[in-house]
Amino acid sequence: MYSKYKTIIEPFKIKSVEPLGFTTPEERKEVLRKADYNLFKIPADKVLIDLLTDSGTGAMSGEQWACIMRGDESYAGARSFFTFESAIKDLTGYKEVMPTHQGRAAERILFSIVGGEGKVFLSNSHFDTTRANIEATGATAIDLPIQEALDFEKSLDFKGDMDLVALQKIIEEKGPASIAMVIITVTNNSLGGQPVSMKNISEVSKICKKHNIPIFLDAARFAENAYFIKLREKGYSNKTPKEIAKEMFSYAEGCLMSAKKDAIVNIGGFLAMNNSTWAKRAREVEILGEGFPTYGGLAGRDLEAIAQGLTEVLEEEYLNYRIMSVAYLGSGLRKQGVPIVEPPGGHAVYVNAKKLLSHIPPEKFPGQALVCELYLEAGIRACEIGSLMFGKTNNGKFEPAPMELVRLAIPRRVYTQSHIDFVVEAFENLAKKKNTIQGLKIVESSPVLAHFTARLAPVR
Ligand SMILES: *Cc1c(COP(=O)(O)O)cnc(C)c1O
Repeated sequence: MYSKYKTIIEPFKIKSVEPLGFTTPEERKEVLRKADYNLFKIPADKVLIDLLTDSGTGAMSGEQWACIMRGDESYAGARSFFTFESAIKDLTGYKEVMPTHQGRAAERILFSIVGGEGKVFLSNSHFDTTRANIEATGATAIDLPIQEALDFEKSLDFKGDMDLVALQKIIEEKGPASIAMVIITVTNNSLGGQPVSMKNISEVSKICKKHNIPIFLDAARFAENAYFIKLREKGYSNKTPKEIAKEMFSYAEGCLMSAKKDAIVNIGGFLAMNNSTWAKRAREVEILGEGFPTYGGLAGRDLEAIAQGLTEVLEEEYLNYRIMSVAYLGSGLRKQGVPIVEPPGGHAVYVNAKKLLSHIPPEKFPGQALVCELYLEAGIRACEIGSLMFGKTNNGKFEPAPMELVRLAIPRRVYTQSHIDFVVEAFENLAKKKNTIQGLKIVESSPVLAHFTARLAPVR
């Protein structure tokens, strides 16, 4: 409709606003010191622009808020459950639908049924909670991304694809009977939020059908993935995002979803599948941990808002704005000479801190150093994905992560273009003084998920 215009505008107007957390440089210095240089420990009202995550941080629409009032809070068989169930059946085509309080609850339920000792799960990349829930059952999770996904400078349309040769090889090696499931994560969050092509999904499906291996989609960002297919894959430019999403779901037997992403709600998730034997067992597990299967750890109003969010997220004006605004941040950073993972993903831009701060060695956490400096510079909060998150110490010897990245995740419908311009300007200032940025050392850490709680200090 407005395709002759170069300017892509936010496809909404603002009805309710929330003030940003303005602070002085001195205040930020003090806040950061008190938080032991760990941004997870900073009070959110001391953050100006919060790019820590896109999970559960989106802004609901007026219609979703109306859904909140419309929610039916009956314990069993609430009207809101049937609204939720029919929205998901219509989208995915799967027969059995179970709400959960968030994505990882769906993971825990599913893997308690199909996981266990000796079982193997294969994926383009398991998200960290997905891997943790698989491993908690005694099973093994193996990532099979395409080789190019690890080359951050190489720009490809579908860097989220699974390596088909590696998939076939490992099925032969391990034997099809030991492969519990193939999980396709759309988009691939762990490796830059990169999309998976329809061609890849359909070929993985062909291979799995031949060996009788079930496929599930980890569908947290299914709509962003569908829109990338529309923009980049031959034969899809005239299809609607919903038609494309339906085709994606049609190649799998079920899905897990964190509704905190592409259902644009602040909490929620679901598990959906065709296998009614598994579904029966899943409901038994669900009652133990989540609640009766028509609410699964959520309020009726949440179910109602998820159903509405799943419709809004597939609107083309929304998806165009979403994908273009992330790309806009990417191109702004590129112009400032800031090295990023190419191309920008669907929900975030990943800055290559190893390259930007090449004077800081991995054992001094260049990613975390950049995260801290970004906060000191402008009150922006980002997330390190590097040696603080994934580094290990074996027999006193430090083993760095393969990458030192800083993720700038964009919450849905929350910030405007001027906020993004501000972030780019902050990086412009940082890039100028990058040689003065110092590394960090760990003062105290815990054995599990250390990045959430670690205490750090600056080091020369
Ligand atoms: C967020 C996420 C999950 C886990 O969902 P939660 O709602 O955070 O529990 C699983 N997979 C992917 C790809 C995710 O991004």
